[in-house]
Amino acid sequence: MADICVGIDLGGTFIKFVATSRDGAASEIFELPTPLDGGPTGLAAQMVSGAQKLVDQATASGDNVIGVGIGSPGPLDLKNGIVLAMPNIAGMVNVPLRDMISEPLGLPAVLENDANAAAYGEYVSGAGKGSDDLVVLTLGTGVGGGIIIGGELVYGAHQIGAELGHMILVPDGAQCGCGQHGCFEQYCSAKFMAQRTMDRIAADEPQTALSDIIASKGSIDARDINEARAAGDAFAAEAWDQTARYLAQGCISLTRIFDPDKIVLTGGMAKAGADLVEPVRKHFADLHWNLTEMKTEVAIATLGSDAGSIGAAGVAWRKFGS
Ligand SMILES: [Zn+2]
Repeated sequence: MADICVGIDLGGTFIKFVATSRDGAASEIFELPTPLDGGPTGLAAQMVSGAQKLVDQATASGDNVIGVGIGSPGPLDLKNGIVLAMPNIAGMVNVPLRDMISEPLGLPAVLENDANAAAYGEYVSGAGKGSDDLVVLTLGTGVGGGIIIGGELVYGAHQIGAELGHMILVPDGAQCGCGQHGCFEQYCSAKFMAQRTMDRIAADEPQTALSDIIASKGSIDARDINEARAAGDAFAAEAWDQTARYLAQGCISLTRIFDPDKIVLTGGMAKAGADLVEPVRKHFADLHWNLTEMKTEVAIATLGSDAGSIGAAGVAWRKFGS
């Protein structure tokens, strides 16, 4: 008989479910579609039904479920387990999601924001395992992240810290949807890297194979830029390297503030693996100050999109496992 925690990762399209043991070993992850038209009740029912399946499996094997962790998009009231807003599901305003999961399952539950849950997943089972001081940067449509210091997630005084995508990287730079100018994510997310590159192609009409891709399918993405770079396209190589340098600049600022053991890159753009991390490491080393030797490592995440559910279970272990 073993103790397990259940992790639920609520995404815009799918909800992922996993059971983990105390050492972070994870069961096979399964997913159910996110019901977008059933309101809060329909959403909670789907989450409970997936979690109940894992609870039933545990019971059948003689295992004991000690708690449930829920990773959710926000904004959230973490202390009270409440989803304050969730734009893509009607009626998701001030919804006590934690208790709507906890009560029918008869198990204690904890709510965590999805970016923190993914960071915590890399900490307990992924590229950050063994590093108690860790920064995880998610490079997707936007840039998100999580900070773990001394083995604990960092929230800040008002629980809105660790919004790494909205650090100001370029003073008075590109306008961000958040209202600021020059946010990190305007320079380092997959979406904005592609947008910036398309803007430059439209303005300067450089010699690049990317122009042909834009002509045929209307747009390019980060993968197109990397593929053109790998095929020897000089403009694409420069665009890719510029993004790597922006990323390294952000990583240097994070290193100055937090002195992490590792900075782990995840999200869609991190799928480029060595193509991304090697130029980031090079710029990161070049930008490092001359006061101490570089000890922080920049690494690619190992869990991919499974980090959120494994991390949600990890947060439950943290809260209920002692
Ligand atoms: Zn911003």
